[in-house]
Amino acid sequence: MKKLLLLALTLVSIQLVAQRTVIHCGNLIDGKSNDVQAQMTVIVEKNIITKIEKGFTKPASSDKLIDLSKKTVMPGLIDLHVHLEGETNKDQALQRFTANKADVAFRSTVFAKKTLMAGFTTVRDLGGSGVNTSLRNAINQGLVIGPRIFSVGKSIGTTGGHADPTNGYREDLMGDPGPKEGVINSPEEARQAVRQRYKDGSDLIKITATGGVLSIAKDGSGPQFTDEELKAIVETARDYGMHTAAHAHGAEGMKRAVLAGITTIEHGTKMTEEVMDLMKQKGTYYVPTITAGKFVAEKAKEPGYYHPLVVPKALEIGPQIQTTFGNAYKRGVKIAFGTDAGVFPHGENGKEFGYMVEAGMPAMEAIKSATVVAAEVVGMSDKIGTIETGKLADIVATDENPLRNIKTMEKVSFVMKEGVVYLQ
Ligand SMILES: [Zn+2]
Repeated sequence: MKKLLLLALTLVSIQLVAQRTVIHCGNLIDGKSNDVQAQMTVIVEKNIITKIEKGFTKPASSDKLIDLSKKTVMPGLIDLHVHLEGETNKDQALQRFTANKADVAFRSTVFAKKTLMAGFTTVRDLGGSGVNTSLRNAINQGLVIGPRIFSVGKSIGTTGGHADPTNGYREDLMGDPGPKEGVINSPEEARQAVRQRYKDGSDLIKITATGGVLSIAKDGSGPQFTDEELKAIVETARDYGMHTAAHAHGAEGMKRAVLAGITTIEHGTKMTEEVMDLMKQKGTYYVPTITAGKFVAEKAKEPGYYHPLVVPKALEIGPQIQTTFGNAYKRGVKIAFGTDAGVFPHGENGKEFGYMVEAGMPAMEAIKSATVVAAEVVGMSDKIGTIETGKLADIVATDENPLRNIKTMEKVSFVMKEGVVYLQ
């Protein structure tokens, strides 16, 4: 009997030991330090980083060794602005009438996988139909492969505003969308829309504080919410523990959102120095999405790709974002990484790093904006964003040192999310 018990205990302990994964890292960017550390070992047990050691630790016979001794290892990347329900194509406007929710859902699983394989282990989905929230659940349940998702569900706009889902429809199809559908016209409706999203299972709230490029509407940057509506949104979201993101191209709409206490400004195209200073004062993060700006400006030159109302907006707004980003960075605005993937093909999120570096941000800071800083935005600093003991094992690697060649961020060659290897 005693012998049997001893055997059972030994088996249990072997099983526990066998769960260690020993990762040899040629270079390690841990998200905390500004230095690249050469020849390091990261030890993972189940889904947690349990040890970080200098040099290449010799694995025990029960350990699993992952040899990344020729690669640069860093924390799983975080993209704070994606749309996993769709991807750019010239029939996208028509697909709003032809695609069933199930069609959207199947496609979204493909985009989610592409995103994870590009090294993005966490994303914020900043607007869809609600399929984005179901996708989050399916990934959390292990049914679908993809990044950890913070979903807004359906974003909130005003009548005719950037997030009014019936913009450009034939009159009899427009209906009268309200708070449930994410269209509000008073502080009361703003509160109702936020509470509805809480009920729907959204993780955060997204509003379209100004006009936007891809909506079938004329104005791309004017303010679209009143101060009272913005205040109602931010306050109600706080009541439910949700943070807030505001799409904004024009300065006035941006300023109102910042003053109302919004957490992140998305795009920020025509950000003035006054707005930058306000953001610094209020601790607002700027999520630039340079890649999307460049993509739409390029595609707008292709006849028939976008609706005629979209083309002039894309040509005007698209090319400005990179310059604004450079100015905001130099002025000391907090920058958090986001691309607007979906507006351009999913999986190309890593291009943003090159654009950020081109505009004057050091590569290490660009990587931090997509790891430690982005983790702050989603309120997960204790679990993700750095390679540290006790954190979730979200780990990616590139073939080259990104401080020497930032383009290597476009082809991540190793992906682990919560201790599970998805790409090697
Ligand atoms: Zn977007």
